[in-house]
Amino acid sequence: MRLLSLFIISSIILLGCKKQEKPNGKPHVVATTGMLYDAVVNIAGDKVTAEAIMGPGVDPHLYKATQGDLAKFNKANLIVYNGILLEGKMSEILKKLGRQKPVVAAAESVPKEMLKSAIGYEDAFDPHIWFDVKRWKYAVKAISHALIKLDSSNQQFYEKNTQSYFNKLDSLDAYVKSRISEIPEKQRILVTAHDAFVYFGDAYDIQVEALQGISTVADFGLKDIAEIIDLIIENDVKAIFVETSVSEKSINAVVTGCKEKGHDVKIGGYLYSDAMGELGTEEGTYIGMFRSNVETIVNALK
Ligand SMILES: [Zn+2]
Repeated sequence: MRLLSLFIISSIILLGCKKQEKPNGKPHVVATTGMLYDAVVNIAGDKVTAEAIMGPGVDPHLYKATQGDLAKFNKANLIVYNGILLEGKMSEILKKLGRQKPVVAAAESVPKEMLKSAIGYEDAFDPHIWFDVKRWKYAVKAISHALIKLDSSNQQFYEKNTQSYFNKLDSLDAYVKSRISEIPEKQRILVTAHDAFVYFGDAYDIQVEALQGISTVADFGLKDIAEIIDLIIENDVKAIFVETSVSEKSINAVVTGCKEKGHDVKIGGYLYSDAMGELGTEEGTYIGMFRSNVETIVNALK
């Protein structure tokens, strides 16, 4: 197995040395998550061809690159990934590819002092920076820089689009703040399966509680479930949430546990955490999925 992965990695390196072809004369950009892909499309428009490795409902913490993905990475003129160990199983390949071609870990451009440490992991940071618009803008800026470096003839076009996308992101930020403030302060508790919303809580003043840590790799225990149940009952929490890229099992166990203790807690709906909705729908864009999450949270907790 180890030999095979060594072989795959060296093949990538060898292929990577060849001059990359640009079909239609346009650079080809490969992003790992939908959020990153959406940023590329907003900045680059039709000046590049772009694709995402992970679609709706895919959990990046557990995702392993397929042969098809490796071929996509090889074809790419630029690879964009989140970094901070979000793409747990792909991180090594991505780092190696970075010696052969432009590869940018967009989330790693967020200043260290704005990162939160990962609960339960020594010397690691929480990778879910996209749920604070302010932090996400650093990642967008890094993608913009990488595109300009790759294709400087379209610099002005990329700069103009980045600015207009920033304006939209600022409006989103204001929208989220105003909607979350509609929830009475003591009801502002967001319970989810895995801890993807720490930056969201920090930026928009809502307490976040999760069964699993910041990665879905570690399992939750009965003790975690009991603690969350107590917290829900103590604070009279009305609703808790399921994530589209994480199994519902743990959240259902919490609902059942609360019922056994005489407290009725509802499933408030589905939240997009580490993956977005289908391409071509509102929720298939960063802004659309963010608004959808906020709508779901406010409607269930208000
Ligand atoms: Zn996650």
